[in-house]
Amino acid sequence: MQLYNSLTRQLQSVRPRNGRLSLYVCGITPYDVTHLGHAFTYTMFDVLRRYLEWQGVAVTHIQNVTDVDDDMVRKSRERGVSISELTRINVDWFNDDMRALGVLPPHHTPYASAAMPQIIELIDALLRRGNAYTAAGAVYFDVSSFPAYGRLSRLPREHMLAEAHRQRLRAGPRDPLDFLLWQEEAGGEPAWDAPWGRGRPGWHIECSAMAIAAAGPSLDLHGGGHDLIFPHHESEIAQSESATGIAPYVHGWMHTGMIRYQGEKMSKSLGNLVLVKDLLRDHHPDAIRLSLLGIHYRDSQEWTAGELMTADQAAARLATALRHRDAAGAGPEVEAAPWLERFWAALAADLDTPRAVRALLELAGEVLRGAGRNTTAARAGLREAAQVLGLRGAA
Ligand SMILES: [Zn+2]
Repeated sequence: MQLYNSLTRQLQSVRPRNGRLSLYVCGITPYDVTHLGHAFTYTMFDVLRRYLEWQGVAVTHIQNVTDVDDDMVRKSRERGVSISELTRINVDWFNDDMRALGVLPPHHTPYASAAMPQIIELIDALLRRGNAYTAAGAVYFDVSSFPAYGRLSRLPREHMLAEAHRQRLRAGPRDPLDFLLWQEEAGGEPAWDAPWGRGRPGWHIECSAMAIAAAGPSLDLHGGGHDLIFPHHESEIAQSESATGIAPYVHGWMHTGMIRYQGEKMSKSLGNLVLVKDLLRDHHPDAIRLSLLGIHYRDSQEWTAGELMTADQAAARLATALRHRDAAGAGPEVEAAPWLERFWAALAADLDTPRAVRALLELAGEVLRGAGRNTTAARAGLREAAQVLGLRGAA
């Protein structure tokens, strides 16, 4: 199949190595509830994984939990609960949503708090190789030591600086673009011992350490939301390639768009969250999934309740088609090949789920029009396709 690589900005063939492929997806920071925007991202990676597995590829899916982070510290104080309790509450919430939507659980779910030896080892390597320096108890990555910094996001320096400030980078580094690998212990915050002083890691180094520990220094595919390109993924590349000496850190970068609602990116602060749990009260999980799959993974598109109503009908029609029973002594066979060819070709072309869903639903319509015809083979093809999209009606 072909996938768009955000680094080269070109389509490239997905090439498993010895039939295996590693897929690292940046997981949640469990400081608050997850919503339909999260469901969109993880449903897209779920379809990618299901499609590759259908092709016989052994996918190793790694998805972390960022439980050591500024937001975790802030929110646990605000709510008066421990970080581990906050993590448990929101990870349970997320897992319930994912299970309901039929998203397959990752093979490995590393927690940042449990990866401290690997994180410290990676920072140590960066210090030894001269890519990092200490300043007042903190450790920073020296961006000037990695000339390719900025290659992923292709942002001019001024934009990167503005973004770095927005991400609350503090004073202390030699260059304002140098990012934190480790920050010194602050009162009451979680802290770990390290050779350069007690403290906690920065967000970017956590993902590099967890990814390398689970899949080695060179990942086949690395994904996440589009908003993670800078500085998170840009910084992951710089520190991983500098620490291991192996490039590329990632063969294919894959980024999902942001679901918009009421004209804005869905976010807690804007108060425009759509919660999966609320939708599940009135809608079949397949309908929610179909409404998400109607958006291409790279698009940032407006999600509307109207689309979900259409998806309700589509999910019902699909379920009816899959359960369809032919009349005894049914006549000529329903020819499913044209629709199935379109379906599989759509997924092979940069995971074009909107086009795949259209082919699937047209085939369902064809099965239902099959009065007096034999639909056995068409239904088998329909079921196989629906399973790759993770639809429950096909389970
Ligand atoms: Zn990450």
